[in-house]
Amino acid sequence: MHELGVDVLLLSTGADLPYLTGYEAMPLERLTMFVLPGDGDAELVVPRLEAPRVVEDGAFAIVSWEEHDDPIALVAARIGGLRSAAIGDQTWGRFVLELQQALPALEMRSAADVLAPLRAVKDANELVALAAAAEAVDAVAGSMRDERFAGRTELDIHRELVDRMMAVGHRRANFAIVAAGSNAASPHHEPTERVIVPGELVLCDFGGVMDGYCSDITRMFAVGEAPADVRETYDVLVAAQEAGVRAATVGSTGAEVDAVTRRVLADAGHGEAFIHRTGHGIGAEAHEDPYLVAGNDAPLVAGNAFSIEPGIYVEQRFGMRLEDIVVATDSGPRRLNHAPRDLAVVA
Ligand code: ZN
Ligand code: ZN
Ligand code: ZN
Repeated sequence: MHELGVDVLLLSTGADLPYLTGYEAMPLERLTMFVLPGDGDAELVVPRLEAPRVVEDGAFAIVSWEEHDDPIALVAARIGGLRSAAIGDQTWGRFVLELQQALPALEMRSAADVLAPLRAVKDANELVALAAAAEAVDAVAGSMRDERFAGRTELDIHRELVDRMMAVGHRRANFAIVAAGSNAASPHHEPTERVIVPGELVLCDFGGVMDGYCSDITRMFAVGEAPADVRETYDVLVAAQEAGVRAATVGSTGAEVDAVTRRVLADAGHGEAFIHRTGHGIGAEAHEDPYLVAGNDAPLVAGNAFSIEPGIYVEQRFGMRLEDIVVATDSGPRRLNHAPRDLAVVA
């Protein structure tokens, strides 16, 4: 904060607050705000009814406000005459506007300037948590290989994935995309009542939170044997993902890793069908720095954790994606996901 000229850090909803304190603010109309001055003691301004959830460990003081209090005034009084604040990216716009009104001279910037570089480098404990979350969804992905898909709806498989994530120790499911046949041409398809039929591919991309850290995996299922051209296309996807993982070494940039997966797909004629970046960082949030995308010229450093998830999307026909979480280490890229990567043939 001193280096960046930030006088005070202001954190509300989002992952920055639990990252620093272990406490996650509910996304409510009632303001929760952590006020951390560069010089001085940290205080958590929190609605009284939420205060019992805060675990006190002496690292910061709790200022609880009653229903009739003005929490913006409480925060503004703590900021006082400080000039520069860094505010959490996911703070509700309404609170930012009210703070600006209360303190018109306060300059605000993104708290990500301060926290993203810290959060992007995982320490040993964080890597243990990420690996455990990955192992849990690996078990779910593996168990789905014995499931029946034909005749069931996307929503039914979606519920199955959510239930299984919880059963293997996840605290919550963040998402469970189930996209059958041509629905998978839309990368973030919302599961529907569409019934899965033999002969189609089903994309399952799911993840959640375990011990404060996220999982995220994509595996592909073929209902019955897939046609030869689809299997060949899938082989290209596997090769692109493998190349991306191998390229994710310390010192390579996000743009370089992205270019590697993109080249494998383009060489096989699928360049136009890969319509998103290669990957995203993962940690306390499912998507965070570093992003593996053209234009990111920051080199990977040891402890960065991110997805490698190339995809091929052909409108009206099918979509496929293969995703693992990988950590850049001084001894090379380390995959956290180990579930089989072949096109699983299911009933
Ligand atoms: Zn996604
Ligand atoms: Zn992902
Ligand atoms: Zn995913």
